[in-house]
Amino acid sequence: MKAVVFHQHGAPDVLKYIDAPDPVIRANEVLVRVKACALNHLDLWVRRGMPNVPIPLPHIPGSDIAGEIAQIGSEVTTVSAGQKVVLAPLVSCGKCAACAAGIDNRCRQATNLGYMIDGGCAEFVRCPEVNCLAYPENLSWEEAASVPLVFQTAWHMLVTRAELQPGEDVLVLGAGSGVGSAAIQVAKFFGARVIATAGSDEKLQKAKELGADHLINHKSQKIRDEVRRITNKRGVDVVFEHVGTATWEDSLASMAPSGRLVTCGATTGYDAKVDLRFLFSRQLSLLGSYMGTKAELHTVMKLVAAGRLKPIVDRIFPLAEAAAAHAYLESGAQFGKVVLRI
Ligand SMILES: [Zn+2]
Repeated sequence: MKAVVFHQHGAPDVLKYIDAPDPVIRANEVLVRVKACALNHLDLWVRRGMPNVPIPLPHIPGSDIAGEIAQIGSEVTTVSAGQKVVLAPLVSCGKCAACAAGIDNRCRQATNLGYMIDGGCAEFVRCPEVNCLAYPENLSWEEAASVPLVFQTAWHMLVTRAELQPGEDVLVLGAGSGVGSAAIQVAKFFGARVIATAGSDEKLQKAKELGADHLINHKSQKIRDEVRRITNKRGVDVVFEHVGTATWEDSLASMAPSGRLVTCGATTGYDAKVDLRFLFSRQLSLLGSYMGTKAELHTVMKLVAAGRLKPIVDRIFPLAEAAAAHAYLESGAQFGKVVLRI
């Protein structure tokens, strides 16, 4: 099969479009003919390499996959060849206490397609049967591939971790990112008031079209001052973080008393400081979040199929131009998802 493979970590040019062996499925797995694979910041981290994360090389990246089942293993019973599917990115052991409890994102052996195992930047990918999700027929392949990781993550952060309530104020940082554009929609779905930040007025306009109530241009305005002004000095109930070092101080300073900050990433760096006096006296909560459960993803897919949540595709590249797609995602120019078409 054709695949995008890297043999060493580095800049986008380590990504090579070459012939690779077809994946061989196990009894409980399916082989999927990939039609579209959406990129995430995770792909950039995996390609660059991270300390103490030994990515097996050579490696095929890509976590967000939509395609058609080409072949099923001997024990597979719930899907059949020819069926359209979207794949849940998280592959867990299915046997431990966390998996048994349905909180598979806390499985200690869990990884993502395209992270410690090969992913979807290829003509074919293999994955467990349990990762197959119903295909939302109202979406194109590229739109369908754009759903899982960011919507699952945004849902788990806002609904499960931060326990967002109707009428609360939410600050969504980096509204132009895939996870930011998902967070605006999830927060609006739950009846919150959304303040969105982005680095250009063009992105802010798109955030407004997704339902954001107030907009902050973080290049020309100070986030904490604007939040103070918009909320009459109170601050927001929930801060949706994934930016890291660049926004961390503003995020903390934007929290109302008893506010919750929930974070799933650190695209600008992971060094951060917390003033403990501020943390305890204002009774703040700092929450970490990682991916989401398969059950949450099934809920998300139903809402997507019903048109209540909508993936935003910024730009589509052919698989052979994966390196250019990575460079484009790295530039931060996008609003929504960057997707490879296979
Ligand atoms: Zn497990």
